[in-house]
Amino acid sequence: MINLILFGKPGAGKGTQAAFLKKRYDLVHISTGDLFRHHIQQKTALGTLAQSYMDQGDLVPDQVTINMLEQEVVQNPQAKGFIFDGFPRTTAQAQALDEFLNVQGMAISATLALEAADDLLVDRLLKRGETSGRTDDQDEAKIRNRFDEYNAKTAPLKAYYQAQNKFFIIDGVGAIEEITARLEEVVDQLG
Ligand code: AMP
Repeated sequence: MINLILFGKPGAGKGTQAAFLKKRYDLVHISTGDLFRHHIQQKTALGTLAQSYMDQGDLVPDQVTINMLEQEVVQNPQAKGFIFDGFPRTTAQAQALDEFLNVQGMAISATLALEAADDLLVDRLLKRGETSGRTDDQDEAKIRNRFDEYNAKTAPLKAYYQAQNKFFIIDGVGAIEEITARLEEVVDQLG
């Protein structure tokens, strides 16, 4: 079983690359951002709660995010593996994920960190915001707040996964297919 975490700041290309890796390795792709947006669209109670945080570019509280993620994993018992995209984003989430996977007899294989400079990421997100309709992509102040959230709460996960020898840095700048090839090179070498 291959269980991958796609790690990186907003705009790093996690969703784009997840779509390729999902096909290549026959994995189930779980994006917590997509799940929250689905809840918002469906006007569920969880969607209403999440929206107030997402609109500001703040992280949604850990426990609701963890519960949603675990439910999604449990709903895919036939999966050959998972790509976690945008999760975990805090140490509490990472610990909860490890414990949860352990109980299921599963484990994270690798955390793949896509790296690119902030200015490039802002350009990408503003461009995406022109077509995605995502209000959190249309306002540079909200984008910068998402980076602040990342630096404060998500960046420490690098050390968390490095301590497990599971952290791989991938240059996230270049053509989409070049970046996919860099990711595949790492995944193909996983034991
Ligand atoms: P994304 O689509 O991954 O950029 O996520 C969009 C927004 O959803 C984030 O800015 C957060 O408000 C929320 N979100 C997504 N994943 C998480 C998570 N793992 N923990 C907390 N909030 C999240």
